[in-house]
Amino acid sequence: MKLLQVQNLKTTFHIDAGEVQAVRGISFHVNKGESIGIVGESGSGKSVSMLSLLKLLPGNAKLEADSIQFDGIELVQTDQKAMRKMLGKDIGMIFQDPMTSLNPLFTIGEQIIEPLRIHQKLSKAEAQKRAIEILRMVEIPSPESRLKQYPHEFSGGMRQRVMIAIALSCSPKLLIADEPTTALDVTIQAQILDLMRDLKNKLDVSIVMITHDLGVIANMCNRIVVMYGGTIVEQGTTREIFYEPKHPYTWGLLRSIPQFTEGEKKKLISIPGSPPDLLRPPAGCAFTSRCPYAMKICEKLPPQQISLSDTHQAACWLMHPKAQPHAKEVIS
Ligand code: SF4
Repeated sequence: MKLLQVQNLKTTFHIDAGEVQAVRGISFHVNKGESIGIVGESGSGKSVSMLSLLKLLPGNAKLEADSIQFDGIELVQTDQKAMRKMLGKDIGMIFQDPMTSLNPLFTIGEQIIEPLRIHQKLSKAEAQKRAIEILRMVEIPSPESRLKQYPHEFSGGMRQRVMIAIALSCSPKLLIADEPTTALDVTIQAQILDLMRDLKNKLDVSIVMITHDLGVIANMCNRIVVMYGGTIVEQGTTREIFYEPKHPYTWGLLRSIPQFTEGEKKKLISIPGSPPDLLRPPAGCAFTSRCPYAMKICEKLPPQQISLSDTHQAACWLMHPKAQPHAKEVIS
């Protein structure tokens, strides 16, 4: 059953030089209880698309969509006041850097208790009890005394646990995590991902994880959406993306994941070139200038999404039935 369904979302930023087409008509969904990963380089539109759903865009942004359905409610027409009520209560958000998301002037307890009092209408004592339970749930030791401390008294990993606690405090149906482990070292990153996986199973919350690193979501997500140049270039189950990827950009992302095989040194391969200028997006496939398999048609016409299974779609001219024989060899 679908919790979130987005159809043809477009986000444009008006700047002095013109219009930046940051998100260019994306459609995807999130089922109840599943976790999806949205992956892509900086500037691919992954974070902007999530901020667009939540109406957390600056004044120079314009949002258009055929539909954004969340738990049966159409969000396209929903005003910012109603969205604000939904945020925290039905949708929780975790950002990359907990130090900038937590207010340094308030204790951790105050920052957890406030949303509980506003959204759940709990008394002070009830909210305090719930705050201690939540800190315990995210495995923060001595939660009673930790409630009285300020963000600077916590380590980076502990601060991110607090952010997860705040995001989950009102039992949201959807949790959006934007690069939640990027600012953390590898060991702490693994601990936070383990914690999120455990909490997802315990709380039956749906998760959208935004990341530039496919490796981060391999063990965490049911499905993966790959974004490039403001569009979705491929989406499928985690198995389909890792074992049957069909888009050259996905191949590039997979090659850039560090692999450790005993006794063997494997070189990391980055994707040469830079992302497209979305002030003047290319007429054809946005990946043309970096794609080793680009054909003439790629420059002229954008490829349409082609269904490879009920769950797997890719937008690449190599998938076209009339693709040249050499192209067929590339994808087989
Ligand atoms: Fe490469 Fe063309 Fe496919 Fe784009 S459409 S990824 S340029 S082959």
